[in-house]
Amino acid sequence: MASKPLTPEAVKYLAVHCSATQTKTDLTAADIDVMHRKRGFLKIGYHFVIRRNGTVEKGRDLTEVGAHVEGYNSQSLGICLVGGVDKDLKPENNFTPAQFNALSALLKDLSLKFPKATVQGHRDFPNVKKDCPCFDVKPWWLKHKD
Ligand SMILES: [Zn+2]
Repeated sequence: MASKPLTPEAVKYLAVHCSATQTKTDLTAADIDVMHRKRGFLKIGYHFVIRRNGTVEKGRDLTEVGAHVEGYNSQSLGICLVGGVDKDLKPENNFTPAQFNALSALLKDLSLKFPKATVQGHRDFPNVKKDCPCFDVKPWWLKHKD
């Protein structure tokens, strides 16, 4: 099923996710693309992936509707930080300083392109039972957006 393109006016949220993987796992956007295709997605569900070393890799095009927040894909962009769980797979804010720097720069850039969009974590959407992205995005963004 071909979905409608994502228009800039439609973007109301910049949604931050994590891959829920351990710090030793250095996933790339290509790895996540394979994982998501195996789950039956068209391709990687996120628009961006931020690797452990802070490298920002592209997923879906900004004009493509993603697959990352149930019920909100047609009005959001998805950014995935690699990491987010400890050795027992419990939620943990274990992202690197390079990742946080990259996230802040990326969100600043996207906020210029999509000035009306709200920055929030996956878990901040209604009825989400996950911990994703394993840190409190809104207060973090308030401190880093300027
Ligand atoms: Zn998520």
